[in-house]
Amino acid sequence: MSSVDAIVIGSGPAGITAALYLARSGCSVMLYEQMAAGGQVLQTAELENYPGFPKGIKGYELADLLSAHLEGLNVTRSSEAVVEVSGHAGAFTVKTSKGSVTGKVVVVCTGAHHRRLGVTGESWMQGKGVSYCALCDGNFFRGQPVAVVGGGNSALEESLYLAKLASKVYVIHRRDAFRGARIYLDKLEAMPDKVEIVRSSTVTALHGDNALEGVTVTNVNTGEERRLDVQGLFIYVGFEPGTAFLPAAVERDAQGFIVTDAEMRTNVPGIFAAGDVRAKLCRQVITAAGDGATAAQAAFVFLEQLHA
Ligand code: NAP
Repeated sequence: MSSVDAIVIGSGPAGITAALYLARSGCSVMLYEQMAAGGQVLQTAELENYPGFPKGIKGYELADLLSAHLEGLNVTRSSEAVVEVSGHAGAFTVKTSKGSVTGKVVVVCTGAHHRRLGVTGESWMQGKGVSYCALCDGNFFRGQPVAVVGGGNSALEESLYLAKLASKVYVIHRRDAFRGARIYLDKLEAMPDKVEIVRSSTVTALHGDNALEGVTVTNVNTGEERRLDVQGLFIYVGFEPGTAFLPAAVERDAQGFIVTDAEMRTNVPGIFAAGDVRAKLCRQVITAAGDGATAAQAAFVFLEQLHA
């Protein structure tokens, strides 16, 4: 079994930054990436709010740049799913689908995955009209009407993307007020021919025998039902953290996100968490990268104390 100073789990902006900073501090690093580097950035068409890119940057371009930044550093990268973390500070074992590695510290940067809406038929209709990724599937609905569920930045941003492809976009949100940024809502409201915002409504039924043909939305105040004949339903109702492989001793909040202090330390010495996987207010690429840098610095200090 090979052994390194630090094991970083997850290769989105938080994980790549943590690996970058740790390696530049002289640590040997194992970086586990379940798929390609970039995490959720890869599913984002365009980032408009990442400082330094005033004209915006495509998600895949930023992911490529993040990944390239690790070239030439003492970072071993492996595409394996981590299934278990055990041990203690100075001697953690990270078990994957293919083997095990030991590390003195672990930095968890596994982000979060899309929450399910919970409507009947959602599972079997995934890939038959129901989607969680406009960038991946939007093109299938070119010229057709689609609906987006959710009121956060993801729903609003992806509705703007879909408005370029679909004949019509219904944005269905369970409340009147939106959680997402005003700038996105303004842009959507400026396209009344293309975009209809369906407020205070939930999706209560999916229709179609072999693929999605329509949805029923129900107004939460009046109970009034309305059918929307859409072929695509894009669900953006938040994220759930990916922490199943961690010991139960690592503290989580009520939603399952990892609780850390300001230095990204969890309650278990030697385990740090950074990015969307941890409990925090602001989930952005920039804050994920910032978390990764802080976690790396805190892990480096911890390693020095271990060796002292
Ligand atoms: P989010 O901010 O948690 O919003 C989830 C939305 O889904 C909320 O509007 C919520 O409604 C709604 N919702 C939750 N469960 C629902 C259900 N069962 N049925 C119907 N609606 C439901 O999630 P997100 O939009 O995916 O964003 C996640 C994080 O990434 C946020 O911190 C966000 O700011 C960030 N992000 C930022 C950008 C950007 O800045 N460009 C882009 C994407 C994401 P309520 O509002 O009523 O709770």
